[in-house]
Amino acid sequence: MSAPSDARFGTLAVHAGQEPDPSTGAIMTPIYQTSTYVQSAPDVHQGYDYARVGNPTRTALEGNLAALEGATHGIAFASGVAAIDSILKCLRPGDHVVSTDDLYGGTYRLMTQVHEPWGLEFTFANLTEPSDVEAVFQDNTKLLWIETPTNPLLRVFDIAALAERARARGITVVVDNTFASPYLQQPLSLGADLVVHSATKYLGGHSDLVGGAVLTSDDEWDEKLRFLIKSAGPVPGPMDCFLQLRGTKTLHLRMERHCDNAEAVARFLRDHPKVGHVRYPGFEDHPGHALAAKQMRRFGGMVSFTLEDDAIETAIRVMQGTRVFALAESLGGVESLVSHPASMTHGSIPAEVRQKAGLPDSLIRLSVGVEEEADLLQDLDRALSAI
Ligand SMILES: *Cc1c(COP(=O)(O)O)cnc(C)c1O
Repeated sequence: MSAPSDARFGTLAVHAGQEPDPSTGAIMTPIYQTSTYVQSAPDVHQGYDYARVGNPTRTALEGNLAALEGATHGIAFASGVAAIDSILKCLRPGDHVVSTDDLYGGTYRLMTQVHEPWGLEFTFANLTEPSDVEAVFQDNTKLLWIETPTNPLLRVFDIAALAERARARGITVVVDNTFASPYLQQPLSLGADLVVHSATKYLGGHSDLVGGAVLTSDDEWDEKLRFLIKSAGPVPGPMDCFLQLRGTKTLHLRMERHCDNAEAVARFLRDHPKVGHVRYPGFEDHPGHALAAKQMRRFGGMVSFTLEDDAIETAIRVMQGTRVFALAESLGGVESLVSHPASMTHGSIPAEVRQKAGLPDSLIRLSVGVEEEADLLQDLDRALSAI
């Protein structure tokens, strides 16, 4: 009933980590809505003693996510930022982290406003050319933090080349794989030590939960993160774990449709007279195209674009003019979303830092959903024609 060890991605997505419930035969993993477990004698139990430390619904999810990333360990968290926070908490004051200058706004905020005051040091650099990372590594660098493709500029970084340079110096490599999902990109096979996800996005896939995960084949990191789970408690509840498990069963199906639709939307936008520049790694003239084609299965469901009339007000009118695309934060759900990074997701990044990183104020980001392609194109055409 469980997935054979040589099963392929779609089979793992449906089955990995899950067994029919031993007491009833229920094919779906039950929602073990309990905080504690009865013991037959002090500290004699069936593997679970208190739900902060472990819960069977969570265990099933962790096994499923680990299989999808090709990892031996999965650790589920209450949110993506809780997962990121826990990794950073494994460092010590004086340790240095290198990351890219185009990072999810919440990660940037967590690093600079929470962890920097506690004594971690950060350098955010343009790592498009992998050899440039050598210049920003320091003797105290402990972590290289990569996000690819990036949010919202969809820049692509060379995981294998960067990981090789970091590992040569004993630096741990973390990849935030939220934008690609394990269906499109598997960083551990490219040399990363840890993969982190906001499961809120493609893994969950239905915009009905907040969750995070770390996947790794490194026993020491697994132990450190489990100790943090036990000590600090950033755990997801059983209901959210159940919803995530339900989501991952269709990950491979959803991602194919996201990619199909994003490709059609990107092409449509590129030919539209009201549109300025379209950023989509699937275009051959995208600077990261060859690399994306090498390290990803397909090009993902995200498309960003600017307008010919590069004014913030015009961008807002487009976003208010769509009916299928909903104006909202987040991404990766079945429904199409439109957002304005400069005022929404990246609002916490200072304007001058945004400009320096090349984030135009009129940039519109689309999370292309799994609806009918023709309806998405029609919706965008209507909104663009009205400006
Ligand atoms: C959303 C997101 C996060 C944060 O995850 P939450 O689940 O919202 O806490 C981290 N990284 C990326 C790339 C994201 O898009």
